[in-house]
Amino acid sequence: MSKDKREKNSSEEQSGQETHRFDISALSKKEIIDRARKFSKQYCVGNGADFRLKDYDTKAGVEFSAEDKPLVKEALEIGVEALAALQDILYAQDRWSLLVIFQAMDAAGKDGAIKHVMSGVNPQGCQVSSFKSPSNEELDHDFLWRCQKHLPERGRIGIFNRSYYEEVLVVRVHEAILRAQKLPEKLVTKDIWEERFKDIRNFEKYLTRNGTIVIKIFLNVSKKEQKKRFIQRVDDPDKNWKFSAADAKERGYWKDYMYAYEELIRNTSTEKSPWYIVPADNKSFARIVIASAIIHALDEMELEYPKVSKEKLAELHEIKASLLAEE
Ligand code: ATP
Ligand code: MG
Repeated sequence: MSKDKREKNSSEEQSGQETHRFDISALSKKEIIDRARKFSKQYCVGNGADFRLKDYDTKAGVEFSAEDKPLVKEALEIGVEALAALQDILYAQDRWSLLVIFQAMDAAGKDGAIKHVMSGVNPQGCQVSSFKSPSNEELDHDFLWRCQKHLPERGRIGIFNRSYYEEVLVVRVHEAILRAQKLPEKLVTKDIWEERFKDIRNFEKYLTRNGTIVIKIFLNVSKKEQKKRFIQRVDDPDKNWKFSAADAKERGYWKDYMYAYEELIRNTSTEKSPWYIVPADNKSFARIVIASAIIHALDEMELEYPKVSKEKLAELHEIKASLLAEE
C-alpha cells in the first residue's frame, strides 16, 4: 500500500475504530479467505516495472494499542487455521506446489515469521530450506543449482529462508563475493545483474508452467528498528547467539542493499510470481500480511480434494458395511 493510502486508512481507523472491532471468529472460511486476499493485495507488487521502495512503508500504518493485541493474535490464529485447511487440500490433490521465498535484512523477523505463520501446517506437507554462504561444492555449479535441489514436491509448500536472490543482493553489494564465484572471466560483465534477473524470471516462469507457484516476501524493516533489535540481541542473553559482528558490518551497507532490493523487485516481480513488500517494523502485523499472501496464493490454485469415482465410493460403502457387521 502506498504511504498516502496508508495514512488515509490510519486516520479512518482512528476516527471509526468501532467499525474494525468485528468478531473475526464469526467469519466463514470463505469470508476469511476473501478478506486475506483483499488484505494481501495492498502489499503485492504484481508487475514491478514502476516499483519504488520509497512508496512502501516499514510501519503497519495502523497504531496498535495494548487493547488490540488479542485481536491481532486472533487474526493470525485464524489466518494460520485457514492456511492449514488449504494446505490439507493441496497435499491431498497432489498437483500444485507453492514456493514461498523470504528475503530481508538481518533481524527483520524472517525466522519468527516462518515459525509462526507455518505453525498450523502439517509438517509432512512443508519444508523449510535456509541458504547461507555457498560451500565449495555449491560454487562449482551454476547459481540456481543448490536451490533447485530443495524445490517443493507436488502437494507441498516449500519455504526458502534466503534464496537465489542473494545472487543479486549480497553478491552485488560485495564485489569480492562475485569475484570468488569461479565464473569464467569473460562472463563477468556490466550486464551480469540484468542477465541474472532474466535468468531468475525465466526460472520462475518455468516453475509456474510446471505447477510450482512462486511468491516472494520482502520483510521491509527500517534501519532504526533494526538498530533496536540488534541492541536487544546484545542485552538479552537468550538472543546473543543470533547476533554477530558480521551483521553489524552489513548494516553499514544499508543504502547499497536497498538499491539492490529495489532493482531486483523491479526486475523480477511479475503478475504470476509477485513480490510482497511486507511492513516489518511490527512483527505481529507482518505475520498477518504473510499468512494472507500465502492464503491468496493457495486460493488462486482453486484447490479441490480428489473426487472418488462411483465404483470406488460403492466399494468404500461395502467396506464400511462389513466393518459395521463385525462382532
Ligand atoms: P539470522 O536471522 O539467524 O541471522 P540469516 O539468514 O541471516 O539468519 P546467517 O547465517 O546469519 O543467517 O547469514 C547467512 C548469510 O549468508 C547472509 O549474510 C547471506 O547474505 C549470506 N549468503 C546467502 N547466500 C549467499 C550467496 N549466494 N553468496 C554469498 N553469501 C550468501
Ligand atoms: Mg544473519
